[in-house]
Amino acid sequence: MDDTYTYDLLVVGSANADLVIGVERRPHAGETVLGSDLAVHPGGKGANQAVAAARLGARTALLARVGDDDHGRLLLDSLRTADVDVSEVRTGGAPTGVALITVDPSGDNSIVVSPGANARLTPADVRDALPALRSARVVSAQLEIPLDTVGEVVRLLGPGTRFALNPSPPAPLPPEVLAACDPLIVNEHEARVVLGDTGDGAAAGERSEDWARGLLALGPRSVVITLGAEGALVADARGTARVPAVPVSAVDTTGAGDAFTAALVRRLGAGDDLPTAAAYGARVGAVAVTRRGAQASFPTADEVARATA
Ligand code: ADP
Repeated sequence: MDDTYTYDLLVVGSANADLVIGVERRPHAGETVLGSDLAVHPGGKGANQAVAAARLGARTALLARVGDDDHGRLLLDSLRTADVDVSEVRTGGAPTGVALITVDPSGDNSIVVSPGANARLTPADVRDALPALRSARVVSAQLEIPLDTVGEVVRLLGPGTRFALNPSPPAPLPPEVLAACDPLIVNEHEARVVLGDTGDGAAAGERSEDWARGLLALGPRSVVITLGAEGALVADARGTARVPAVPVSAVDTTGAGDAFTAALVRRLGAGDDLPTAAAYGARVGAVAVTRRGAQASFPTADEVARATA
């Protein structure tokens, strides 16, 4: 692989402090339940995917915004420790984003996000980061930052740079953003929203091929649908392919999608085809669900090789 690019991956996205409480079960409206001691972890989909990719060995930078506060400093520390280049992380304008997360004994989570500084990452910030944007082999984004900011990323991409979008939390996407995606990476819920599917309640597992074809018809060059313990489905002009999950016993699914996405885009940047890159994503996602937390659960390439040989 030539060294034209400074970065294997530039992630444009969010950085949040994750405030996590374990619960026996979630409260109903108007109800209070007791939980475990509070744990504060670095998170946010942008920071998570950057840390996951760096841990797998990718030269990774993050374009993001945090507050000038303790949560922001915690995030910068964790990014630096993971070897993510933080020279494009902006500070100030609002408090650092926060995610309030409850995790139940089955490992399922529920999340409320206060975007804070993430909502102030603007198209002007993207223009200021143009040299970094043009120095990345792959650029990836999620939707915990303004959609206009993602639109500016797409407009300013260099001709040789590959763009991947994980539209999470999901929103209807403009055609110019959809057309740039290679791939568009969604879970079942995100697929539904991007498709504008009012739905008959059928699980994506039963009709994910239809969903993949529907998503491709919206313009992306390729599509990946993640299906939790069922693995994933990849689709492009050549057809669709199932990618089996690696069987493990899950203890905490927080960050599984971020681990999968980071591994996928890391391998695409290294030249793998889509099914091969997604199979690696499934291995990394499987290791991540066997460990607690988001960033704390992301494995190194050696750990992936040992755990899923
Ligand atoms: P998200 O967290 O975005 O909803 P998924 O739950 O679909 O994403 O997980 C992403 C990927 O992680 C899956 O495609 C799968 O490869 C892997 N994964 C998730 N949950 C499990 C599990 N219980 N067992 C094995 N692999 C899993």
